[in-house]
Amino acid sequence: QTHDPGHSLVGFGRRALGGKTVSTVTLKDVTKVFRDGTLAVDSINLDVNDGEFMVLLGPSGCGKSTVLRMIAGLEEPTTGAVMLDGEVANDLPPRDRRIAMVFQDFALYPHMTVGDNIAFPLRLAGVEPEPRGERVSDVASALGIGDVLARKPGQLSGGQRQRVAMGRAIVRRPGLFLMDEPLSNLDSGLRAELRAEISGLTRELGVTTVYVTHDQAEALTMADRVAIMRRGVLQDVGTPTQVYGRPATLYVAAFLGSPR
Ligand code: ADP
Ligand code: MG
Repeated sequence: QTHDPGHSLVGFGRRALGGKTVSTVTLKDVTKVFRDGTLAVDSINLDVNDGEFMVLLGPSGCGKSTVLRMIAGLEEPTTGAVMLDGEVANDLPPRDRRIAMVFQDFALYPHMTVGDNIAFPLRLAGVEPEPRGERVSDVASALGIGDVLARKPGQLSGGQRQRVAMGRAIVRRPGLFLMDEPLSNLDSGLRAELRAEISGLTRELGVTTVYVTHDQAEALTMADRVAIMRRGVLQDVGTPTQVYGRPATLYVAAFLGSPR
């Protein structure tokens, strides 16, 4: 099952958001020191443009998830500013950020059907049953899971579970889509298929995306721009061609396996 091109999700994009057309993220000198003294993120400056697919790439432990969690409002920066649409958002609670997040373990509700999982954010937001059902089936068809709405997550394949998680994330038309290693628990064939599906879907939606991975190939194939981190420090930012062809540091060159 693949993305059904005949069933366009464009109606779910920013054109349908009612006036809200911009979603940008700016990190200004953002630093995170955890209580135990761990310096996880060290003075990061980064701009994510409207509609851009930005990949945060780096080895395990370099601070990628911490950056993402600060954008989502799940962690507060120790110093510096996280700005959303040009305004400082350090204290803005997660639920007020119009952000959707997809994690590695999908975090689906096992006792609910696929349809109810996808509908859940709409129900929380008080959307009436009728537009809710229609929206859920539109999103599900676009993701190729229209025929499994009545099943429970335990009755799905890994790829289908990932699509349900994505459906649940986009159903409320977020302005910003955050994904933390969403494919790392899947086998390599499925990973390749879902890479293409995720980049196609986010581009069709026009939704600004920050995507975290430690996988170089994933980053270089999916990104509009790649931000490469090492030990909490941003090493390089640029298009895949730029960072691969003209790496800013020896570390970046070695990490990406750039030709010398
Ligand atoms: P990544 O996602 O790139 O693997 P993380 O952002 O999860 O990296 O972690 C960055 C660093 O911060 C690591 O050294 C990690 O052990 C540490 N860290 C993450 N969360 C906490 C926490 N709540 N308390 C203390 N240290 C943490
Ligand atoms: Mg992580």
